[in-house]
Amino acid sequence: MSTTKGYAAPVKDAPLAPFSFERRAPREHDVAIDIKFCGICHSDIHQTRDEWNEFLPEPSIFPMVPGHEIAGIVTAVGSKVTKYKVGDKVGVGCFVDSCRVCPECKQGLEQYCAVGMNQTYNSHEKDGSPTYGGYSEKIVVDENYVLRIPDNLPLDASAPLLCAGITLYSPLRHWNAGPGKKVAIVGLGGLGHMGVKLAHAMGAEVTVLSQSLKKEADGKRLGADHFYATSDPKTFEKLQRYFDLIICTVSADINWEQYLMLLKTDGSMVLVGAPEKRVPLGAFPLIAGRKSLAGSGIGGIKETQEMLDFCGKHGITCDIELTPIQKVNEAYARVLKSDVRYRFVIDMASLKKG
Ligand code: NAP
Ligand code: ZN
Ligand code: ZN
Repeated sequence: MSTTKGYAAPVKDAPLAPFSFERRAPREHDVAIDIKFCGICHSDIHQTRDEWNEFLPEPSIFPMVPGHEIAGIVTAVGSKVTKYKVGDKVGVGCFVDSCRVCPECKQGLEQYCAVGMNQTYNSHEKDGSPTYGGYSEKIVVDENYVLRIPDNLPLDASAPLLCAGITLYSPLRHWNAGPGKKVAIVGLGGLGHMGVKLAHAMGAEVTVLSQSLKKEADGKRLGADHFYATSDPKTFEKLQRYFDLIICTVSADINWEQYLMLLKTDGSMVLVGAPEKRVPLGAFPLIAGRKSLAGSGIGGIKETQEMLDFCGKHGITCDIELTPIQKVNEAYARVLKSDVRYRFVIDMASLKKG
């Protein structure tokens, strides 16, 4: 065991504060990682506030060390590890294990594990001990759940690929974003800005639907062909039946019916944003035009590695604002105001300052 410094929410809704806990000694198949950077995902905020309690199988676990966009360097490997060696640049995303035998795990869809994956935090390891996430100095993970970060990408701006990147890459691939496809990304935050970069690199025509035009210049720089404000009712008139695919990254309640009307016949709207409340929905916006409303969660290990390699090939990373861990609560407040361009990443060197 080794004592590990981190930051935790001691109880629901409380500000994050310093917290020490134990990490296991590496087992035969484990990789020990010195965490250099960890992204702040909006899911960290939802979970430290226990906003998803209605939808989760178990109550949230406190103290909660959030963080599932982890980038670091391997410091030790177990005797049977073959994939990684000391000094490698690696990442860990939203889960650290899964059952490995259900049909989903066998297909590389561990994120949909029939038994439930072992999430990086607010969850349990297979031995029943609580998992603690990446707002901490080190982590120990089975090699099969560790990702390789391409050498040409910087560690800090790659960290958010481990959640924001894969959460957009997976549905873009599944719904065949590419040349000739018109894709809308709703919400230009951490997930949304990765959606713009990835859909553009895949060759799709990309439109951002943001609350205002404040981020228009950024959106175009990131690769968007078009940018519209959803606060302007004309947007919903002008774009009727326009898109093949709409990916909604919004963390709050919106009127999904309004967006469904922007799909072509046979178009799909995919929810990746996970708001706290249920949204009422009539049948007719789906019936008219044989439309699909779907959801998508992160991605499996194989696809996450494919996404990282795709980003390496295309030189894609996240636009980040580095923050010391001591300012994590201020960062949360700014994320809630959509005031971050476009992902906060915690510089874990700051942990040494206490
Ligand atoms: P984020 O950085 O806060 O981005 C969310 C964006 O949504 C904001 O930047 C804003 O974009 C828009 N937005 C916020 N409040 C809004 C409102 N009231 N009305 C309309 N638009 C609003 O958050 P994130 O980290 O990208 O995460 C987004 C959501 O995805 C969260 O719910 C998170 O939990 C969820 N998530 C899901 C998965 C998954 O696997 N499905 C993975 C990671 C995260 P504009 O300023 O452009 O309007
Ligand atoms: Zn996340
Ligand atoms: Zn499984």
